[in-house]
Amino acid sequence: MVKPQYQNFRECYDGHFENGKFIKGEKLYELYKYCLCEECRYRQAQYRTPANGITITTPDISKVDEIAERLKSWNCADGSKQLETVYERV
Ligand SMILES: [Zn+2]
Repeated sequence: MVKPQYQNFRECYDGHFENGKFIKGEKLYELYKYCLCEECRYRQAQYRTPANGITITTPDISKVDEIAERLKSWNCADGSKQLETVYERV
């Protein structure tokens, strides 16, 4: 198994409910980032609204480093307002 250089991921499981029971699916690796743009930081400090964020999941642990690198440069499109969290699966 590949050990990612970046350890800031969370393990979770895909899945669905069947008759009220959770049926565990594929294991996923999840990475999250809060936007650090000036407007997001201002909104956070001034109005205590959360910074915009992105969540990327992948079933492939060898992609964790690549995702972590991508997240480093990720910024929200418009920090002047609170946006829905972006979800991506790769
Ligand atoms: Zn932002």
